[in-house]
Amino acid sequence: MSFSYLRELPKPEEIKRQYPLSEQLTALKAERDKKIADVITGADDRFLVIIGPCSADNEDAVLDYVSRLAPIAEEVKDRLILIPRIYTNKPRTTGEGYKGIASQPDPEKKPDMLAGLIAMRNMHIHAIEESGLTCADEMLYPENWGYVEDLLSYVAIGARSVEDQHHRLTVSGFDVASGMKNPTSGDFTVMLNSVYAAQHPHHFVYRGHEVETTGNPLTHVVLRGAVSKHGNNVQNYHYEDIMRLIDRYEQMDLLHPAAIIDANHSNSGKQHREQVRIVKEVMHNRKLSPKIHRIIKGVMIESYLEEGAQKVGERIYGKSITDPCLGWEDSKRLIYDIAEMNV
Ligand code: PEP
Ligand code: MN
Repeated sequence: MSFSYLRELPKPEEIKRQYPLSEQLTALKAERDKKIADVITGADDRFLVIIGPCSADNEDAVLDYVSRLAPIAEEVKDRLILIPRIYTNKPRTTGEGYKGIASQPDPEKKPDMLAGLIAMRNMHIHAIEESGLTCADEMLYPENWGYVEDLLSYVAIGARSVEDQHHRLTVSGFDVASGMKNPTSGDFTVMLNSVYAAQHPHHFVYRGHEVETTGNPLTHVVLRGAVSKHGNNVQNYHYEDIMRLIDRYEQMDLLHPAAIIDANHSNSGKQHREQVRIVKEVMHNRKLSPKIHRIIKGVMIESYLEEGAQKVGERIYGKSITDPCLGWEDSKRLIYDIAEMNV
């Protein structure tokens, strides 16, 4: 066999025991989870803003970012719920490149999975301690999910994983809001089937155990734009796209129809500044149509301390080493604008 088994890794329970979340912060997470769930189910008319870097590559910069976000979250709390993006596992289009802090705690050094799992857990804990905000992450590998599942208030399933049965079944066991992205092809059927799968109970193998889940009623969709067969970006945040989504939702037996608009990726064509315009268009469409108002529960924005992106090794503090991000000042202004537009 061509696998080399390098070492056995500690189980999630062991790492959790070594790096626990305090009782007080566990209670705070439960409160936040409830508020976010209420937005998804329609019991609360606030708006979710999932915002932060494409990849959380550096703990200092990420903590700096969330500590700037915290006072703003407090100011806008009557209208918005801010959820920092702390993405520790990065899917790569060709498999090459930086795979996130969970693989490489230092982006310039070789992978170290044990140090990575600890860095991933610690960064989430420190972010909650620093800001009082529980965060979002992408579940790229269902297998390493147990190392952070008690810390997260929002889980995304990426465009490249959304058709995968193991991802879908794993989400069916979560009790937090979980967003299924449209696949890179843009097919709504794949995305909605994924929501259906995750909203239902399942019986399967997980980390060497036979397990059963109850289904996750908080599973919903995330529109991230698509790539055509000719390689062009195809946006899916416009008025007509949302109307088409509403139609498709109505044809399926799904709980709590809800969508988040990802303003970057194929929606912006990775032109990070376009996110401002895209988010404002979405807020405007919510005002035009009560149906759109009801279904769009939030936006996802890629934002960091410095705008744009850099290559690994350039070492500019707070600048993305994966997708280009909106800079801090523009992000701050955009949050206030979203708050004003959520009426
Ligand atoms: C991301 O959120 O950074 C990401 C990789 O998204 P997607 O799966 O939509 O490409
Ligand atoms: Mn990204």
